Amino acid sequence: MTLRLFNTLSGQLDQIFAEDGKALRMYACGPTVYDFGHIGNFRTFLQIDVLRRFLLLTGMQLRHVMNITDVDDKIIRNSAAAGVSLREYSAPFEQAFLDDLDTLRIQHPEQIARATEHIDRMVELIQNLAAAGAAYQTEDGSWYFRLSAFPAYGKLSKKDLSGMEDGARVDVDEYEKDSARDFALWKAAKPGETSWDTAIGNGRPGWHIECSAMAMEYLGESFDLHAGGEDLMFPHHENEIAQSETVTHKPFARHWMHVRFLLVDGRKMSKSEGNFYTLRDLLLKGYKASAIRMALISVPYRHQLNFTFDGLVDATSAIERIRTFKKRLASGSFAAGENPALQEAAKNAQAEYIAALSNDLNTAEARAPIFDLIRTANTAIDQSQLLAGDRDAILAVLASFDAVFDVIEDNDAEATRRALEWAEKAGKLADVAPELFARQGLTDEAIDALVAERTAAKKQRNFARADQIRNELAEKGIILEDSKDGVRWKRK
Ligand SMILES: [Zn+2]
Repeated sequence: MTLRLFNTLSGQLDQIFAEDGKALRMYACGPTVYDFGHIGNFRTFLQIDVLRRFLLLTGMQLRHVMNITDVDDKIIRNSAAAGVSLREYSAPFEQAFLDDLDTLRIQHPEQIARATEHIDRMVELIQNLAAAGAAYQTEDGSWYFRLSAFPAYGKLSKKDLSGMEDGARVDVDEYEKDSARDFALWKAAKPGETSWDTAIGNGRPGWHIECSAMAMEYLGESFDLHAGGEDLMFPHHENEIAQSETVTHKPFARHWMHVRFLLVDGRKMSKSEGNFYTLRDLLLKGYKASAIRMALISVPYRHQLNFTFDGLVDATSAIERIRTFKKRLASGSFAAGENPALQEAAKNAQAEYIAALSNDLNTAEARAPIFDLIRTANTAIDQSQLLAGDRDAILAVLASFDAVFDVIEDNDAEATRRALEWAEKAGKLADVAPELFARQGLTDEAIDALVAERTAAKKQRNFARADQIRNELAEKGIILEDSKDGVRWKRK
């Protein structure tokens, strides 16, 4: 099992391997913690989670580092406006981000690094750039990278930078200029701003230098893979390469993975368009965490995903199908033995699933054989042709599907409960879908008790009471399914 992944730098599919023969050293740009993460951010983190989980499934060891940008233009501006320190301002957003990762079952990297805890390393890198003649200081005390010192600039994004203005400068952290400019490495302190008094002056780092310094701190001067959203390719990743390679004369990262952005209802997501959603917005609208995960990973990372609410509904029912099937398989009693046709079906599904993910993490193609297998197995159970050995083989396929997709175990009610708790504290109860309150009012135990009461009522031929209970539960979003094995219920 190996992975061939598109490499932005080489422009082709390249096999992923750990150069040191031990662990794959990878760096993924993390969040800037000044707000709650939106679904576009989380699509990127989820696709990197798919990468992580598939590599682990292939038996690879990982050393995955992610930064937390807890100092930048916006954080400085917002914390000053709120009259609190940087840390006081960013800490709740950092915690919210980590909580959101857990809600979406995104595995944490081996190392999370905060920018403000690595200032010394950034200062050292700027000093090395200055010694190499690639950094200069302006009158106000800020430091800039001299783009003309790195002729390979643009090799990642393949931009034509022939119109580059020599010596033109940009000092904001985020910019989308087609013409590249000398960019800020270190910004001199302005009155009232948080700053660090260092050997290169009193100030604070620019955004790009953070990632170069922290990646090299934990992964060395040259490492295996660097990942991030497509919006970071230029200028952020080009700048990381320029800063690092100018000092080390070694390739910074061998492989670059970029996750494409999503559209919402066919349009760019933006606050002004009214189609901007954080993860929490969706949970409060009543969508399940597992469905959001499934919807955001089911379109492969190199394709643009068009996010819609219909897509979330589809993801919800797809998950329901898998969960119901797994329960049926795990709780059923099957005769001993193996059915050769089902053994073959399980083996093929597993092989097709692995082949799809091995080919540039094609999550869409990876799903298909799993659902085919579920259909085949359901029919076999209906016809009493599924045997105990088949159950074990099929459960093993589901386990490897879930090692990457991770949607079968049902923690959705818990994730929603946490979102409601947060909404209450944050004064956002007005955003909560009304049926969500009703649904949350019922614990699993309370539902089980009502279902048992309804079964008893039916036995006593008290159909009025049985119907009343069914209707009461339906109003609260609980659906009952009568089957020959008894009554099953699920939350809508
Ligand atoms: Zn970065």
